[in-house]
Amino acid sequence: MDSISKLRDGFRNFREGKFQEQRVVYENLVDEGQKPKIALVACSDSRVDPAMLLQADPGDLFVIRNVANLVPPHEIEGSYHGTSAALEYAVLHLEVEHLIVLGHAHCGGVRTLFNEQPASAEGNYFIKPWMNLVKSAHLRVEGTMPDASDEMKARVCEQSAVLVSLENLMTFPCIRQKVGNRELSLHGWHVDIRSCTLQVYDPVNQNFEAIE
Ligand SMILES: [Zn+2]
Repeated sequence: MDSISKLRDGFRNFREGKFQEQRVVYENLVDEGQKPKIALVACSDSRVDPAMLLQADPGDLFVIRNVANLVPPHEIEGSYHGTSAALEYAVLHLEVEHLIVLGHAHCGGVRTLFNEQPASAEGNYFIKPWMNLVKSAHLRVEGTMPDASDEMKARVCEQSAVLVSLENLMTFPCIRQKVGNRELSLHGWHVDIRSCTLQVYDPVNQNFEAIE
């Protein structure tokens, strides 16, 4: 079966199975609208589907996915700000109570920080500038642990990038205000699908700790 046929069959199976089981849930979500309490910024990586990993139900998560689960700083120049628009919708219109940045192990986007491919390489217009959002995380890793393995450097860089995104979230006035009023909480998580571990950032101890 080709990959597109597999998806079409998947939808038919969903329509006959899960959808029938949760028909009332879906009807309510349409009639009353979505009211997720959690917005989540995840990587586009095909291996880390947040709804699957976290066993979320329809309507639970407002998911924003991009390369390397990055949050850019608040900017209002006339460009196309897809991630910022989704954040604004989640915070101001859906009024979510939690915002999670979900990083992950073996992130291809983060790995691009470690290779020296020039920004002008054929066809590569967007990834390098996008990943420059967390260049500081890469420089910090290379500066503080130059002799560590590539695997270890990448892991620390992935987690540092999550922290940069959390800092950038606070540059959005609507987010800063809601966090200050305790109407919104920010969370930094990191998942590894090889060891199947989820690490959660503890701002008191300033490190990522695996959940039981
Ligand atoms: Zn990734």
